[in-house]
Amino acid sequence: MENIRVRFAPSPTGALHIGGIRTALYNYLLAKKYGGTFILRIEDTDQTRFVPGAEDYIIEALHWAGIVPTEGQSFGGEYGPYRQSDRKAIYHDYAKKLVENGHGYYAFDTPEELDAARQADDTFKYDYKSRARLNNSLTLSAAEVQQRLDSGAPYVIRLKVPEGETVHIQDLVRGDVNFQSNELDDKVMLKGDGMPTYHLANVVDDRLMKITHVIRGEEWLPSTAHHVLLYRAFGWEAEMPRFAHLPLILKPDGKGKLSKRDGTRLGIPVFPLSWIGENPEDSFVGFREAGFDPRAMVNFMAFMGWNPGTEQEIFSMDELAEAFSVEKIGKSGARFDIEKARWFNQQYIMASSEEELAKTVRPIVEAQGHQPTEAYLRSFVGMMKERVVLFPDFWTNGAYFFEDFAVFDEATIRKKWKADGSRAVFTPLLEQLDALSDYNAAAVQACVEGFTNAAGLKFGDVLPILRVGLTGTMKGPAVFDMMALLGKAECRRRMERAFDLFDQVS
Ligand code: GLU
Repeated sequence: MENIRVRFAPSPTGALHIGGIRTALYNYLLAKKYGGTFILRIEDTDQTRFVPGAEDYIIEALHWAGIVPTEGQSFGGEYGPYRQSDRKAIYHDYAKKLVENGHGYYAFDTPEELDAARQADDTFKYDYKSRARLNNSLTLSAAEVQQRLDSGAPYVIRLKVPEGETVHIQDLVRGDVNFQSNELDDKVMLKGDGMPTYHLANVVDDRLMKITHVIRGEEWLPSTAHHVLLYRAFGWEAEMPRFAHLPLILKPDGKGKLSKRDGTRLGIPVFPLSWIGENPEDSFVGFREAGFDPRAMVNFMAFMGWNPGTEQEIFSMDELAEAFSVEKIGKSGARFDIEKARWFNQQYIMASSEEELAKTVRPIVEAQGHQPTEAYLRSFVGMMKERVVLFPDFWTNGAYFFEDFAVFDEATIRKKWKADGSRAVFTPLLEQLDALSDYNAAAVQACVEGFTNAAGLKFGDVLPILRVGLTGTMKGPAVFDMMALLGKAECRRRMERAFDLFDQVS
């Protein structure tokens, strides 16, 4: 492969949708696979849609996901600036070149005139037919055009789409795609405010930044016809990048494309990081804040439209890069199945070391007002890691490791505890446990077994008392392991408290 240069080119119009993460990821993987360059370019030419904070959000999200550019906005490089609003003069020159070489023209039509044309004919398009009767440098005399330009009359520059041609794209995902030029409009290239449109800036930058592959969402496929015409107009067709248009990401339920509203509607994250918008409808919870491991999100997103063609599902970033190929990207839409994302997360948590997990879980526990020692926290995450799906579950399912339970499994206790006798039966157990010199799991277990046999009880009569007494619930890690971690004094205190509570419900 030649020296691969790919780019992720988001527009900073708000939080980056999860589909953007997938686009960034596939670009990143291709570059990583072939030792190429992955560039971040900020496409902010539409000033009306600019949202403050969005660029920082994009950069933070890429860092969090581990999809880190090697070049680009805030990453440096030789082809900058990488923010399109800082490249205005460049586009201006190229728009002028289009006029000079006959592939573009000045258009002076006012918004009112264009509105009137649309009113008269609702299929109106500024195209190879209508341009012949509109107000532009193709219909006006050279002198008149010059006079208008000199007088500072507002104008745009449009692409002069050739008549009667077939525009062919060999898309790496979709195969052969053809467009008839007669169906394409003469898109604006340079706007009245001197800013380029997306089309001009995108093509000029891809060319100047020596982009070899354009990997982007399917919604850009129709624009590609204009992009190909632009490459031709500039005489760059031989160096045109290859295109790969990614399939849609579909709603988890029903038909159509996943939208940010689906996140709110279904209570699931569809953004990498939380975003606080101007109002609640524009505010979203991210994968990070929902408690996902970024590696699980990446692994999950990698499979939204691509698969390795094998049974393997768990892939590190390095393994993804190795297995990835554009040819294995599917054509059909990929359903956004959050249960699958949760499954990936579970796998990553189970495979994580106690040290890693403690790092992530510490702030969650500290936010609840507890400062466990590192050793305690590591044992805790070790015991809980097979019993959680998302990071906050460590607290939700295991708060009793740090504080007394607030509610307990009364149904079980009513079956196993008698207010008029159980305390007398179980008090000796507490005393025997107290007498242990080494309170480890094996010693505690031996003690509990000895007590059970001597008292003529069954394990099923004793363990629920201990388990619910210590934690409030019948679910959780092995009871003797928990006891060893909680320690003798704490177990004793908890059991005494529990006996009082049990008496009240039995
Ligand atoms: N700025 C476009 C976007 O927001 C880029 C599309 C492309 O990659 O060409 O997605």
